[in-house]
Amino acid sequence: MTATLVIGPYSDSDHAALKEAFDPVFLDHPADLSGFDRATCEAFTALAYKGHHAVGAAEMDLLPNLALIANYGVGYDAIDVVAASERGITVTNTPDVLNDDVADLAVAMLLMQGREMAQASEWARSGNWKSRGEYRLNRKVSGGRAGIVGLGRIGREIADRLAAFKMDIHYFARSEKTTPGWTYHADPVSLAQAVDYLVIALVGGPDTENFVSKEVIDALGPRGVVVNISRGSTVDESALLNALEEGRIAGAALDVFLNEPDIDPRFYKLETVVIQPHQGSGTVETRAAMGQLQRDNVAAHHAGQPVLTAVN
Ligand code: NAP
Repeated sequence: MTATLVIGPYSDSDHAALKEAFDPVFLDHPADLSGFDRATCEAFTALAYKGHHAVGAAEMDLLPNLALIANYGVGYDAIDVVAASERGITVTNTPDVLNDDVADLAVAMLLMQGREMAQASEWARSGNWKSRGEYRLNRKVSGGRAGIVGLGRIGREIADRLAAFKMDIHYFARSEKTTPGWTYHADPVSLAQAVDYLVIALVGGPDTENFVSKEVIDALGPRGVVVNISRGSTVDESALLNALEEGRIAGAALDVFLNEPDIDPRFYKLETVVIQPHQGSGTVETRAAMGQLQRDNVAAHHAGQPVLTAVN
């Protein structure tokens, strides 16, 4: 009996690589675990997980010999790490290999929002360019003031890119970092007051829920743009929607939402919002690297070696 269980929607190439490496049992969803008998459950020592459905104490208790949950993705907020630690289960993620893609998307969304690229493209495609003339003037992005909420691995890559756009860089983190002249803010309201673009790169999970609160959004002001590549949970989404609908901030550029993919339809009505379908790390190259790092963690575990990227 195989020792590896794989849960989640994998690409064909990741599915084939997992099959070749571990000859695992594949499931689509954590809820499918209830279909296994006790002996099958007892055989699994490693779980390769991909997805946003919760993996908590109940799922872990169905797998009494589980010692590793190798998450596909750097964000592991779907996994109850406290419950895993209590059961002696190591959790791993896939950090760093996706930093460039997520930072690229954040900057692209920011430019797309300011330069109204979706609307301008539609102006040309619809024939308006030919029949009605030039597209309306929009907003200069280079040289603005950017605030990064969470200067971690991805936040720093975003800041580096925006600095190359001649932006004045401000940031919030729980402690001041060594940076090339960027301005530290110990609270997010002070950060929002100082900038035009607020880019959120926090971890998800209960500790950062609604971290970008109504007060933070209000502090951003009418020229303010919220960019979120972290998790929908880090922003008070209803406060954000109200501010956007009432024109109290200039716009938003969002890759992540509450209740993905069934997002609040109020977003679709707002021309000032750029919407991306949670595709920050979604390139062929980066997804391959994430899959490899996940498999490397599972292989290390089975070989009795230290895993590469433990989070607990
Ligand atoms: P990271 O290096 O761990 O950075 C996380 C940041 O969150 C750090 O600045 C950290 O602050 C801050 N933070 C953690 N706990 C906090 C708390 N309780 N209160 C306030 N701040 C807190 O993580 P990363 O690799 O940059 O990834 C960040 C997140 O991006 C992931 O967790 C994931 O949710 C998201 N992500 C999204 C996509 C996408 O497709 N859109 C792709 C990959 C990742 P300190 O510096 O003070 O510790």
